[in-house]
Amino acid sequence: ALPALGIDIGGTKVAGGLVAPDGEMLATARRATPGASVSDTEDAIAAVVAELAEGHEGAIVGVGVGAAGWFDRTGDTVLFSPHLAWRNSTLRKDLAARLQRPLWVGNDADAAAWAEYRYGAARGADLALMITLGTGIGGGIVLDGRLRRGSHGVAGEWGHMRVVPDGRLCACGNRGCWEQYASGTALGQTAREVARTSPAAAALLLERVDCEPDRLTGEHVARAAYDGDPLALELVTEVGCWLGQGIADLAAVLDPEVVVIGGGVSVLGEMVLRPARERLERALPGRGFRPGPRVVAAALGAQAGIVGAADLVRRAVAEGEA
Ligand code: BGC
Ligand code: ZN
Repeated sequence: ALPALGIDIGGTKVAGGLVAPDGEMLATARRATPGASVSDTEDAIAAVVAELAEGHEGAIVGVGVGAAGWFDRTGDTVLFSPHLAWRNSTLRKDLAARLQRPLWVGNDADAAAWAEYRYGAARGADLALMITLGTGIGGGIVLDGRLRRGSHGVAGEWGHMRVVPDGRLCACGNRGCWEQYASGTALGQTAREVARTSPAAAALLLERVDCEPDRLTGEHVARAAYDGDPLALELVTEVGCWLGQGIADLAAVLDPEVVVIGGGVSVLGEMVLRPARERLERALPGRGFRPGPRVVAAALGAQAGIVGAADLVRRAVAEGEA
């Protein structure tokens, strides 16, 4: 059986991989996401595909593309993307013309959810939810062995549930969205606020950016937390608490068996997951009288989106849909 290409387009990077049918990653490639322009983003996708396909011509099933956007029911149109340039964009048609290969396109977190169900932490679950923590919060739902995308294709966009009335502004146009409090971006935002207001408290973080608070990103905070910086650990814990609170609300609606946490921030593992589980235990409606979901790290880590997109194009080809 032949490998497939999986591409994951996030707010900051286009990451791709050549993936074997058993989910094994055979090669990877990446480019920065040129977020401002649709055609530049397509150029980056085409470049990653070309790099990965070199030397494998004729031996690739197709290309699966998971993108941080809201797809319509057919998958033909990206209706909207909070972090990228797509607005009613014909991504599928454009990529089909450029790549001339069998294609699957869909939401990045849906692809990650599928990968975790097929190969990872959600194997065998009757209802699994994926939460990816990156530039934003992505979501995916696998129910009874199938990805569920809602009546209009945009189910699982819980990064945009309002968790704080009149809270932080969000790229979706609202205020107080969950992803403004529990994502890589949120980690950076809070760090900048602290560093501007109390440089003393943020002294260690500020050392990493030549004392320029505005340059602090979530990645700086994550690295500092790894190194044991107490403020960074506190900020990561805070993100974990927001995560757990949101999961309690999702559990109230959907009662999942397992919630898988992926995306860049999930490399922090228990630093995020422990506070999330603790908060979930205190916030689950009817706690003590009902079971709640397991909360686990993505077994495929930040590569879940790539692996899932590759498997989804493989399936689409097998079903004559690509
Ligand atoms: C978008 C999701 C996407 C996620 C990626 C969110 O803001 O709404 O579609 O999966 O960002 O981080
Ligand atoms: Zn939002």
